[in-house]
Amino acid sequence: MYDYLIVGAGPAGCVIAERIAAILDKSVLIVEIRNHIGGNAYDYYDQHGILIHKYGPHIFHTNSKVVFDYLSQFTAWHLFELRVAANVDGQKVPIPINLDTINELYGLNFSETDLIKFFELAAEPVDSVTNSEDVVISKIGKDLYSKFFKNYTKKQWDLWPDELDPSVCARIPTRTNRDSRYFTDKYQVMPKEGYTELFRKMINHPNIHLMLQTDYRAIEQVIPYKRLIYTGCIDAYFNYKFGKLPYRSLTFSFETFDLEYYQNTAIVNYPNEYDFTRITEFKHMTRQMHPKTTLSYEYPAAVGQPYYPIPRDENTKIYNKYKAEADKLKNVWFVGRLGTYKYYNMDQVVTQALNLFESLKSLENI
Ligand SMILES: Cc1cc2nc3c(=O)[nH]c(=O)nc-3n(C[C@H](O)[C@H](O)[C@H](O)COP(=O)(O)OP(=O)(O)OC[C@H]3O[C@@H](n4cnc5c(N)ncnc54)[C@H](O)[C@@H]3O)c2cc1C
Repeated sequence: MYDYLIVGAGPAGCVIAERIAAILDKSVLIVEIRNHIGGNAYDYYDQHGILIHKYGPHIFHTNSKVVFDYLSQFTAWHLFELRVAANVDGQKVPIPINLDTINELYGLNFSETDLIKFFELAAEPVDSVTNSEDVVISKIGKDLYSKFFKNYTKKQWDLWPDELDPSVCARIPTRTNRDSRYFTDKYQVMPKEGYTELFRKMINHPNIHLMLQTDYRAIEQVIPYKRLIYTGCIDAYFNYKFGKLPYRSLTFSFETFDLEYYQNTAIVNYPNEYDFTRITEFKHMTRQMHPKTTLSYEYPAAVGQPYYPIPRDENTKIYNKYKAEADKLKNVWFVGRLGTYKYYNMDQVVTQALNLFESLKSLENI
């Protein structure tokens, strides 16, 4: 009899398992349907010996000292500030849009004050911002919207920005200074030995047992447990009784070149050309020295692994029905990106898992 059964060995499952095992001294079984731990943050050395991220580039960034300190128990880090270029009108310019983007794109020599005026003139006021097109056009106008946002969003979601919640495009800021960092969080780092190693250390505890390549459905009636923490898809747990929660998926194709580096930055976005959205060159992020380099090409897809919850009102309504059912259950908790149907970064998922742990502690009278 296990004290806790945890479904999923992604970031959420590993964090909660570690806390329960180490602090509550309870027994934990983690079941993971894939053949590896780490969830979508999984990285591994490919056949050429290059460290790559199987499910797309993962950069750790957070403003939370609590999360950073917690994870630092399991890894050393190196600093890494992501810079992304967008291939627009034949040029590779910084994204998020900043002063250099505009100057390079239009061959100008604007100051920051000039750019503020430029955006004010370009912006088209909207009565109320109700979708992702409104968000962008009301700040920087139609031309930049068309060059950077419109087609990228359509490729990524197979929906036009005016069909998507404002939050989708609002994730990408517009700057008037020359800050070319993709993220502005206080901590921007990469685990020195990779994410898989971080999570391996995290769950390396005598109270934790791990079963890979095991669907929770296959063991739930067979292996006894007292409490369940579920980080898989919440609709799957309830046998899709209110309908399937839709996700946008991705496929990745990897290619290795006999070159030290292929591009100048870790990620180059292709908003308007090709079927893929971006090319990632992992060595920029991992700092690995190697005579060859491996790239990933990222293709959005309608079917496949559940990556991005689709933020539309109708989907939130379905999720809320599952959430209401989940709240009625005793000794079952849903956590993580799939368990709560939210686009969460790793730090947010770690926060969620640490918060859940605080509730479990009071339940266990600790
Ligand atoms: C392309 C891409 C890029 C990203 N980039 C970043 C980034 O740069 N920085 C960042 O902070 N975050 C990034 N993220 C987000 C990050 O991947 C998530 O925050 C994180 O993986 C969420 O962890 P999780 O444990 O909730 O879910 P997951 O990582 O999805 O783990 C859930 C696990 O549960 C398992 N599972 C599901 N159902 C079952 C079942 N029935 N039985 C057994 N096991 C099951 C799954 O196989 C999976 O391993 C990115 C995500 C994607 C898709």
